[in-house]
Amino acid sequence: MSSTAYDPNNIFAKILRGEIPSHRVYEDESVVAFMDVMPQGTGHTLVVPKAPSRNLLDAEPAALGQLAIAVQKLARAVKAAFVADGVTVLQFNEPASGQTVYHLHVHVIPRFEGVPLKPHTGDMEKPDVLAANADKIRAVLKG
Ligand code: AMP
Repeated sequence: MSSTAYDPNNIFAKILRGEIPSHRVYEDESVVAFMDVMPQGTGHTLVVPKAPSRNLLDAEPAALGQLAIAVQKLARAVKAAFVADGVTVLQFNEPASGQTVYHLHVHVIPRFEGVPLKPHTGDMEKPDVLAANADKIRAVLKG
């Protein structure tokens, strides 16, 4: 098996299976979205396809359309939930790019004029802050 094979015990696979907790804000038949525990900004959300792939490089092209639609949905929701000025969308492939969890995911980060992103995989956020932010996003998605 090559070193870039998909590992079904990666942390996001465990979150998708409900084996470890997350602050889930959205789910449909193809994706789950939850709060990043080391946010680079307020409301930093991860959009994760249910289909297993290590990253964009080995993903089934057919799964990417649904992922992109969910990313747009979450980008609009976080922008509204936090009254943000913009949204940064990031996605990393393999360690050289900064990827640290090897199940495809897209970062959706609300942005505010003049506020820089915090470091990638920096400080852990308090669970109550993540829970409150998740509530705000869920409220927008609920309409
Ligand atoms: P990447 O470097 O693109 O693979 O990003 C992985 C992201 O997952 C980082 O932003 C981490 O803060 C985040 N992360 C790691 N573990 C968890 C977890 N258990 N729940 C939510 N986010 C996580």
